[in-house]
This record gives sequence, C-alpha cells and structure tokens, in this order.
Amino acid sequence: MTRAPPPPGTLRTNDACRVCRGRDLTKVLSLGPQPLANSFLRAEDLAAPEPFFPLDVWFCGTCGLVQLRDVVAPEVMFKHYLYASSTSPAFVEHMRGLAQEVAKLRGLRPGDLAVDIGSNDGILLRHFKDLGARVLGVDPAENIAALATKQGLETWPRLFDLATARDIVAQKGPARVITACNVFAHVDDVHALLEAVKAALEPDGAFVIEVPYLVDLLDQRLFDTVYHEHLSYFALAPLVRLMRDHGLEVVDVRRVPSHGGSLRVTSKRQGAAGKPSDSVAQLQTLERDRHLASRATYEAFARAVEENKRRLRDLLAAEKARGRRIAGYGAPAKGNTLLNTFGIGTETLEYIVDDSPLKQGLHTPGTHIPVVPASQLQQDPPDDVLILAWNFAGPILERLAPLRARGVRCILPVPEPRIVEPGGSA
Ligand code: ZN
Repeated sequence: MTRAPPPPGTLRTNDACRVCRGRDLTKVLSLGPQPLANSFLRAEDLAAPEPFFPLDVWFCGTCGLVQLRDVVAPEVMFKHYLYASSTSPAFVEHMRGLAQEVAKLRGLRPGDLAVDIGSNDGILLRHFKDLGARVLGVDPAENIAALATKQGLETWPRLFDLATARDIVAQKGPARVITACNVFAHVDDVHALLEAVKAALEPDGAFVIEVPYLVDLLDQRLFDTVYHEHLSYFALAPLVRLMRDHGLEVVDVRRVPSHGGSLRVTSKRQGAAGKPSDSVAQLQTLERDRHLASRATYEAFARAVEENKRRLRDLLAAEKARGRRIAGYGAPAKGNTLLNTFGIGTETLEYIVDDSPLKQGLHTPGTHIPVVPASQLQQDPPDDVLILAWNFAGPILERLAPLRARGVRCILPVPEPRIVEPGGSA
C-alpha cells in the first residue's frame, strides 16, 4: 500500500465556522490523515496508491460547534456508497417510532405531505405512508432512489436545495413535515439547506432532524464516529443558534438511542413555534453543566482517546503473544476510523465478518483486512472477536453464543476496551 495525497479538486478547507462563520477555531483532536471510511478496496487495487485525507476535529470558540474543516467532495465520498438503511431491523423499528411520534405531535393528517431528505431506500417514508400521508423522498443516490420509487415511495434523485424545494411546492404543495435523519451532520452548507427547508414547509409545518449527539460521543468515547462524511458533531446549543439565524425555533428535543446516542430536534417557524417543551431548556442546562462550550472538555477527550488506543493495542498484543487468533465483527465506516487511528491491521486481525454482500470480498481502507461472510467464523474459528459494530453488540453477542460456549471471547472497543468472557453480556 502506498499513501497518496488527496487527488486535485477533491478537498476544500473551510476558513470559518460552519454555523456562526466565526474564525475562533482550535484543533482539538487529530485522527488523520486517513483514507475515506467507506472506500473499501478490491483485491486488485490493494497495491495502487490510496488517497489519504486530513481528519482533524476543530472547536469553535464562538458558537461551540465541533466540526471538521476539511471537506471532501461529496462525489468522491459517496461514489461507492454501500449502506442501504433497511438492512438493519433495529433501524426499521426506530423509524416506525419516529413516524408515529411526528404524526401524533405535529398533527399529520391523512393526505398531508411528508418529505424526507436523504430518504435512502424509503425506510421512514414507508411508515408515513402507512399513516395515510402523501410521501416524497429526496436522495441524490440514483440507484437507491429508483429502488424506493419502484416500491411505491416516490423519490426524486436529486439534492435537496432551493430549486428542489420550489419544485416540490409547485408539484405537490408545501410539506406538513420535513424530516432529515442522519443528514444534517453530513452537510457543509447548512444555511442553504435551511433556506430550502423553509421554502418547502407549510407556515405551521415542522422540520425534524436526527443527529448524533455530542454528549453521547463524549460520554461513550465514540471517537470512531468521526470520519470525513460527518462534518459536524452537534450539541443543542449551536443548533438553536443556527435555527434562529434562519427564523426557526427549536420547539422540542429528545435523546434517542440510534448511532450510540442521537438528538431528535423539532423546529418550527418563529411565528408558529409557540412555547417550546421543557426538554429544550433542560438539555441546554445539561450542556452548560458538562462544559460543552469549553475547549478543555475536548482536549480531555483527546487524551482519553490516546489512553484507549494504548489499552486496546496492549490488550490485542497480549492475546497475540499467547498465540490466540483474532477476527473482527462488522465492517462499518466507524470501524475503519478505529482501525486506522489505532494502527490495527492484518498483523492483528485475520479477517472481518460483515453481513453486507456489498462489502464481502473487499478489503478495509488503509488497513487492508479482508471482509468475509459471517460463515467464516464457523469454518475458521478465531479465539477472540473484536466487535467493531459496537452499536449492535447485544445482538452480536447473542449470535455468537454457540462460539462463545466453546471458549471464544469477545472484545468491545468502547467506551473503553474490555473483554467479554464467554458467559458475559454487553
Ligand atoms: Zn461557530
């Protein structure tokens, strides 16, 4: 493997904060350079130069936004997008709950329009449709948009921008509800997105987003959720400020379990917002108590990541020294951040199993570990399994019960490295 610099035209560096446009930015965590976390490699490409991009996390002293400044061109990042959201049953269930809650709290009536931005294969729209709403998805991934449309969930294969918003209003009327799950943190120009949302929203409509929550990232030491696609790591405070800058008011916020801990944030136009629920002030108090507006908080986090690196490397090295064989479980994007940050490669992990046929037969970016089907665990059992898809640790431990009964031990990397003995649980 040879590391290559970013190809010309694929990388841009912001000189100001994404939310407040201030310039009081401090680098608080450096994980790079790293390859793109979803750029899995074919065997025949392993010897070719592999582009590495800076992966540094910055803190804005003005509005408190934790963010990447280096923005990789989306067409490079999403060229080989390998994630279809309905493959995860837990996520399907999460989306059903979201649709039901939104319908109840926001007065979504049969015939109302629900628009989902970054709708993927229609995992959320399906549930809005079941509730009688008219639904429209917007997702730039053409193959996935076509798949959803074929299943009766009309999806436009384009970016959600002002032109798209105007076309929606012209063809479908304004939306009662606009949702964006795991989209907002991926967007560089959040201001343009919010202007487009306002253009497509009914005067009394609601805009609902889900974003991974910074407090959970810090508490669970989820440094591996940092990769180039995730441009912002939101707390509530910068979001409230951002919405206000666009005439929107956060009226409700809830902590939800997806992706290790996320925020579900509902906003409305300022004139239609009414009194926000108590949860908004409660979470702002929590964030003040946790010193999220202080740079020192993130510097302490960076030290904790270093400590975890030392501990996991020591743990794995000790297992290897005892002659034990180690495999990985799950090849999510975050697993690649972990492996590349900690310098764990083929010298430690013989293979990684993953259920996605799209990843099987490929190799992990940067570390070049082969990704194989889960059946490999039976055919060629390891002594230890490092669980890289830690958000599914419970189901994975259950699934490995037969192997664990035969003495295979599991290792969890977060919040701190630990071995789960054959009888133990997550
Ligand atoms: Zn800022």
